[in-house]
Amino acid sequence: MGRVNLAHEFKRRQWGSAADRPKASPRAARGEARRRPYNPAMPELPDLAILADAFHAALAGRSVTAVDAPGPLTVRGTPTEMAALVGQRLVRFDRRGKFLRLQFEGDRVVVNAMLTGRLQLASGAKVKRPQKTLFVLSFGSRARGPEDAAEWTRGAAWLPADNAAPEIRYRDPTQMGKVYVVPAGVERPIPGAAESEMGPDADDPALTLEEWRERIRRHPGELKNLLRNQEFVAGIGNAYSDEILHAARLQPYRRRATLAPEEVDELYHATRATLATAVDVLRERVPPTFETEVRDFLAVHNKGGQPCPRCGGRITQTEAGGFTTSYCRTCQR
Ligand SMILES: [Zn+2]
Repeated sequence: MGRVNLAHEFKRRQWGSAADRPKASPRAARGEARRRPYNPAMPELPDLAILADAFHAALAGRSVTAVDAPGPLTVRGTPTEMAALVGQRLVRFDRRGKFLRLQFEGDRVVVNAMLTGRLQLASGAKVKRPQKTLFVLSFGSRARGPEDAAEWTRGAAWLPADNAAPEIRYRDPTQMGKVYVVPAGVERPIPGAAESEMGPDADDPALTLEEWRERIRRHPGELKNLLRNQEFVAGIGNAYSDEILHAARLQPYRRRATLAPEEVDELYHATRATLATAVDVLRERVPPTFETEVRDFLAVHNKGGQPCPRCGGRITQTEAGGFTTSYCRTCQR
């Protein structure tokens, strides 16, 4: 163990059961959510994949009728650039890494929701806007939905009628997220979104096992950090890295350099299976509001002290680095 790791270990606050936890105030004892009010579930690949599919199905083919930016500090783009979106048809709403992308006929809008940014799909302007709404795009009617809409969205009850005038509202209580308006032909740097800063999406069919083995060689460090490193693969954050490592039976603080070849492969298969399962669950659970991160179905993340669903051992939880890490010491090695 090097010095860095020892320091890391020292800072780590661990507990395996409620009795082991540091003495806490009565308020803290009431639960995780209240104890850490500014550590909500950050959107990750499965959450954003659902949004991208749903919003593409709901909005592609419609033209922008109005742009409103009640939170101008959140928006990177001038009033003139925002106004220029009006009249442009939405061609595609998709996702890359942790970014949502709206491709219009000419210009683009890119959303980095960070911790607390959320998008609401409203069937019309009369639906009351949530508090802390910082950016609104209003759309007009369309002749028909996109032909390439995801299969699971077809015929969904939450889809606005083609003759409706839906809106998407971006709200963000902490205003940490950003909305980038990028006119055609303009190079506007979006931190973290450059192709040079992002590996392939963790669910990209082009990310084969061979590609995974090759890419992972460059990253010798701890597995949780590896999975969260967007330059390795994009889209995985704090919650799903815990879930993937549990599925792979590997501990989060294990170093990649110590993995046997078959463990590297297992990590790949666990990544694919965990994300695919989550997307399946979220398709059922997230509509029609799209505003909350559904996490109650996860196996270990944020479930410190509860029994491991695989072996029954008690789930360990740490707060290293300001974020929650949960794992099972009994069945993860
Ligand atoms: Zn276990």
